[in-house]
Amino acid sequence: MGRVVVVGSVNADLVVQVEVRPRPGETVRGGPLSVGPGGKGANQAVAAAVVGAEVALVGAVGDDAHAEVALTGLRRAGVDLTEVAVAPGATGTAVIVVTPDGENAIVVSPGANGTVQPERAADAVDRAPDGAVVALQLELPPATVAAAVRQAAARGLRVVVNAAPAATLDTAVLAACDPLVVNASEAAVLLGLDTVDDPAAAARALLALGPRSVVMTLGAQGAVHATQGSEEVRGVTPPRVDAVDTTGAGDAFVGALCAALADGRDLHDAVDLATLVGTLAVRRAGAQASYPDATEIEEARR
Ligand code: ATP
Repeated sequence: MGRVVVVGSVNADLVVQVEVRPRPGETVRGGPLSVGPGGKGANQAVAAAVVGAEVALVGAVGDDAHAEVALTGLRRAGVDLTEVAVAPGATGTAVIVVTPDGENAIVVSPGANGTVQPERAADAVDRAPDGAVVALQLELPPATVAAAVRQAAARGLRVVVNAAPAATLDTAVLAACDPLVVNASEAAVLLGLDTVDDPAAAARALLALGPRSVVMTLGAQGAVHATQGSEEVRGVTPPRVDAVDTTGAGDAFVGALCAALADGRDLHDAVDLATLVGTLAVRRAGAQASYPDATEIEEARR
């Protein structure tokens, strides 16, 4: 069984269905409030555990009532929470409104995620088991991400960076990524483009920024990947499913990808499994609540 250490965010998601999003200055009545676990770090940790990895999370929650909600899915999935600190104040919280077309609009308040200091993240990575895959996203402070990446690279651990929410990355972080994982709009931000029209060309352009390998997710079209030293861009097309809610699908993909890499699979096999797990996660509502269990993944792979 492979080992994955996620250095990332833990949030409570507050979700309300609305007919229409409020305009500036307007108040609208919404449906019932749903409060559940989220945060890119926590979602990816849960997904990696579901796929069979031994997973630890490095991060922080607050000392408020949302902390327990935010940790429920991690506890259920058996993720090691030894390196999750409790900071005075609020847990990271996402306020999400969803319209009937499935579109969402999200405000994230970082709360305790903003208290994870670079030294603490680097120390935790220093204690990570040999051979672990270190997974990061961009919901912790940039200096914390950079310090964790630096430490992982110094130890020769495999680093997977999911550049989400979209932002540019410094050269040292990019150079350590194996792979850098982005969706199309995150790729556009990294490349300084308005949109990405040709995924293969974008994957090659991303490789030119310095990562060892690149994975670009394409929603219902699956994903493409490319590796330094090869001109080839390979793709994986997922099975067709009726998408109910894509929230957290990208995180399911990244978590599964890290678990597969930690298990020793090559990048193509890992992207293949990640695409399947991402696709299975769009069939149900919610983020972690939508993730398939090991039996569902096994059945889908037959
Ligand atoms: P999100 O922000 O919605 O969590 P994302 O924008 O980070 O996702 P996407 O490229 O939309 O990432 O999707 C990630 C993966 O999830 C895809 O590679 C695919 O496996 C799966 N997926 C997403 N949307 C669909 C869909 N409509 N049908 C089937 N699979 C999907």
